[in-house]
Amino acid sequence: MADFDADLFVIGAGSGGVRAARIASSYGARVMIAEEFRVGGTCVIRGCVPKKLLVYASRFAAEFEDAVGYGWTVGETSFSWPTLIANKDREITRLEAAYTSTLERYKVQLVKSRAVIEDAHTVRLTADGRRITAKTILIATGGWPHMGPKIPGLEHAISSNEAFHLKELPPRILIQGGGYIAVEFACIFAGLGSKVTLVYRGENILRGFDDDLREHLRTEMQGRGITVTCGQTVDAIEKSGDEYVARLSNGEGVTVDKAMFAIGRRPNVMDLGCEKIGLKCHDHGGIEVDEYSRTSIPSVYAVGDVTNRINLTPVAIREGHAFADTVFGGKPTRVDHADVPTAVFSEPELGVIGLTEAQAREQLEKVDVYKTSFRPMKATLAGRQTRCFMKLLVDGTTDRVVGCHIAGPDAGELIQLVGIAVKMGATKADFDATMAVHPTAAEELVTLREKAFSYTRAAAAAE
Ligand SMILES: Cc1cc2nc3c(=O)[nH]c(=O)nc-3n(C[C@H](O)[C@H](O)[C@H](O)COP(=O)(O)OP(=O)(O)OC[C@H]3O[C@@H](n4cnc5c(N)ncnc54)[C@H](O)[C@@H]3O)c2cc1C
Repeated sequence: MADFDADLFVIGAGSGGVRAARIASSYGARVMIAEEFRVGGTCVIRGCVPKKLLVYASRFAAEFEDAVGYGWTVGETSFSWPTLIANKDREITRLEAAYTSTLERYKVQLVKSRAVIEDAHTVRLTADGRRITAKTILIATGGWPHMGPKIPGLEHAISSNEAFHLKELPPRILIQGGGYIAVEFACIFAGLGSKVTLVYRGENILRGFDDDLREHLRTEMQGRGITVTCGQTVDAIEKSGDEYVARLSNGEGVTVDKAMFAIGRRPNVMDLGCEKIGLKCHDHGGIEVDEYSRTSIPSVYAVGDVTNRINLTPVAIREGHAFADTVFGGKPTRVDHADVPTAVFSEPELGVIGLTEAQAREQLEKVDVYKTSFRPMKATLAGRQTRCFMKLLVDGTTDRVVGCHIAGPDAGELIQLVGIAVKMGATKADFDATMAVHPTAAEELVTLREKAFSYTRAAAAAE
């Protein structure tokens, strides 16, 4: 190993890279890590963490309104976007320092530079041109917002990266996209008082999620004053003084103060040197890896969003950890990508795990569907028109719960725990045998006695 400058060179100090670096180092490897922007990566700097802080901020207005029904007199309230952004930035800086000191504590050598791959064992640091050799290279460069085709006026559109640094809260904003980032930002801005128009080219938001859940969220978002326009794209953005007119494919013009595009993210492989060393990439742009995150070049591995498997922080962290266990810990470890629980921090929040109803119908002979929609208790005195939605999908042959879909307060917290049960293979009978916690919304999950309907492949084929 001594022939190389390092045993491991990690490109990208985000969720996956930092975890891989510190675990590899704990096994005694000499580790270097390069970061071209800020330590912590997307999640900490311009993803999950700042977003959740904005989500918290956006929920206070409704809380103030709801308080009145509970006897509170709430004085005049006001909101300062610059204060929120400054406080958020302070927290991000604290977290960045914490990540940096973790790397120091684990004796990982941090290089603040972009790194590009020169050959199977060499990277070049663009800051000073230095070439570093390593026995193993790990690519953990994450992803980047994709802005779509080059429409006229595209330069006026911002991505989620810029949304975290706006000077002021836009009174009117158009968000193009239907994925979780678009939906979350639509709810954040609406909660803070912006007039929000969400434009999505597909037939409904949150493609890939359960259809009932998608419909439920869309109705709730519209109930909160968000205009959701599906089946349209933004074809041009015209600047007119301080405003912008977003031209939709149906010819309609939407006048706004900001236009944000959240139409997807692409693996960060541009100019990285992948072609130079013949690294294989998928058609979707992600680096091809095997179940141990090894690329087509034996000394080069890749983890996280750059592989475009499941683009979530906990997945990138697991993949980074498994890589280090496999290559430096002598414990070959595969990451199980099945049944990953996930949340959407919309309003209301969503929590999901397992199959959607459409997937269950495709994969199983018989599917039992249980669902309920109800007014959460807190909404009663508050006088708020909102509903919770819960759905369990059960394999009608084995009684196993194969999917759970929740919309309602703290759905993200709930699904983490339901996730354990589903991962353990819990059956509907296990859910039924669990005593309810009363009064909660979650108790509905163990009191869903009435089947909404059963889908049987044989019966469907006979129709
Ligand atoms: C707005 C938003 C909200 C999100 N919310 C959630 C959420 O709620 N929950 C969740 O689980 N996930 C969420 N995600 C996704 C999550 O952030 C990513 O899945 C996760 O950060 C991926 O980690 P990673 O290690 O693959 O890459 P990243 O965290 O993106 O890290 C890659 C790092 O590599 C650096 N880099 C890139 N190229 C080079 C180079 N050539 N040389 C040196 N450095 C380089 C980058 O600067 C970056 O710091 C969100 C993402 C966004 C954008």
